[in-house]
Amino acid sequence: MKTKYIFVSGGVLSSVGKGLASAAMAALLESRGLKVTLMKMDPYLNVDPGTMNPFQHGEVFVTEDGAETDLDLGHYERFTNINLQKENSVSAGQVYETVIAKERRGEYLGGTVQVIPHITDEIKERIKKVAKAKDVCIVEIGGTVGDIESLPFLEAIRQLRFDMGEENVIFIHLTLVPYLGMSGELKTKPTQHSVQKLREIGIQPDFLLCRTDRILPPDIRSKIALFCNIKAENVITAKDVSNIYEVPLVFYEQGLDEKICQRLRLKAKSKGLAKWAKISETLALPKNGTVEIGIVGKYVDLTESYKSVSEALGHGAIANQVKVNLKYIDSEKLESTNVESELSGLSGILVPGGFGNRGVEGKIKAIEYARIHKIPYFGICIGLQLAIIEFARHVCGLNKATSREFSNTGEFVIDLMEDQRRVERLGGSMRLGAYQCKLTPKTLAYETYGSLEIWERHRHRYELNNHYRKILTDHGLILSGLNPELNLIEMVEVKDHPWFLTCQFHPEFKSKPFAPHPLFIGFVKASLKNKMQIKKTDRKITPKTSTLSSGKLSKNRSTEYR
Ligand code: GLN
Repeated sequence: MKTKYIFVSGGVLSSVGKGLASAAMAALLESRGLKVTLMKMDPYLNVDPGTMNPFQHGEVFVTEDGAETDLDLGHYERFTNINLQKENSVSAGQVYETVIAKERRGEYLGGTVQVIPHITDEIKERIKKVAKAKDVCIVEIGGTVGDIESLPFLEAIRQLRFDMGEENVIFIHLTLVPYLGMSGELKTKPTQHSVQKLREIGIQPDFLLCRTDRILPPDIRSKIALFCNIKAENVITAKDVSNIYEVPLVFYEQGLDEKICQRLRLKAKSKGLAKWAKISETLALPKNGTVEIGIVGKYVDLTESYKSVSEALGHGAIANQVKVNLKYIDSEKLESTNVESELSGLSGILVPGGFGNRGVEGKIKAIEYARIHKIPYFGICIGLQLAIIEFARHVCGLNKATSREFSNTGEFVIDLMEDQRRVERLGGSMRLGAYQCKLTPKTLAYETYGSLEIWERHRHRYELNNHYRKILTDHGLILSGLNPELNLIEMVEVKDHPWFLTCQFHPEFKSKPFAPHPLFIGFVKASLKNKMQIKKTDRKITPKTSTLSSGKLSKNRSTEYR
């Protein structure tokens, strides 16, 4: 069977939900037994988002093979069975880097190197390579139609339809149809303009996904159809949903997958969406009530920075039939005077990944609070490193314990390994991607995973300094996971605590709604148990709003992403 291509663009505004829409379509096609892959094309000139501040870009999602990618790839993996790789995430920076390197090698034989055809050809080659041996390749074009930056990508996909033929390529455009409360109307003009922009550059969309807060009535669909030159039945409502796992259901109910298959002459039959419906039901009516989980970090003003963590907690919630209420706590504002009022009443506390020394003392306070008050604690990456520092300071008596990332002096219980000391380039040079970890029997880690060997994804430079292993374990710290090849500690836990588990890797990247990650299941379960045991107090948990602080990226490794 010939590979079919679905190109997804977006108009009117950014953040309308192209990534989720693409992931949902992939899920629908996968449920028909098709072999699907997904790609994200980002128009920025960074080679990858790894060097970007989370406030600029949200979370950096890490693939199994160690690519630092856009957070939409997280949606793609969570909604499907696909294991994405480096090549599934393409930025304009990567494309230009390749073309310029070829030019320097003299591979263009004296020609003038231009956006068309050299940049566009490179984009087309990358798409065709990923699509090989797949039934359907869904390609999401980042940015908003009308941006200068996305033009080479749009030109490349225009050419691909020309090259491959209409029956093999479709264009889907996602727009916003706002409802104006003042006049009580749904407004179609932004959609009309956005489609006009696309048609100016030679792309006529086959389907429109209209993001709205209500189902579009037939007259509005007909109006959009007429002005945008699209069949009315292909104007689909992308209605707001209460949880993202309803998106495939919303599309399914409107027959989007059937229409796509007919248009692309794909013969695959639908097997229904029963498992998605079940998940949505569980999320809507959780049997076991709610748990309150505090996420203590410094990027809390942009919760997209913790996308995979919050999603994975949601998966843990599904597994435990509870609703997780997240409270984001700004670690920079956490002090001895307010730690009690901020954290008491939480069922569980989580410190997610982070970089630089801003806010670390607040996180250490939260960890100390969780350790002493026996509140379930889950530490991820810097959440492990700070748990070790906290333990070293307050249990082992190493008052000056710190990480080389935060300070030039002190006891570096967290330090740079030899190979990281020689690193000069910031981009793509951390310990990245999947590494093996052996678990110690009879530990919480082993019991939670139920396995002696695991593989998890990493994104960090610093490690537990092996010189401190003895003093830490002598005082009761349990080293429960080890990378045997590099002799590095990967998991650490605290004795005589109901649930205190930390890991150097990022388990959130591998959690899916249909395969919740064991650590997130375990953490939510422990939090639920803790909640049952807590005596009811009158203290309320009120979500906190704090001012946005944007960080500048420094070249100094120790101040990355501050
Ligand atoms: N900043 C720490 C390091 O580089 C932790 C990174 C993280 O939490 N992802 O090792």
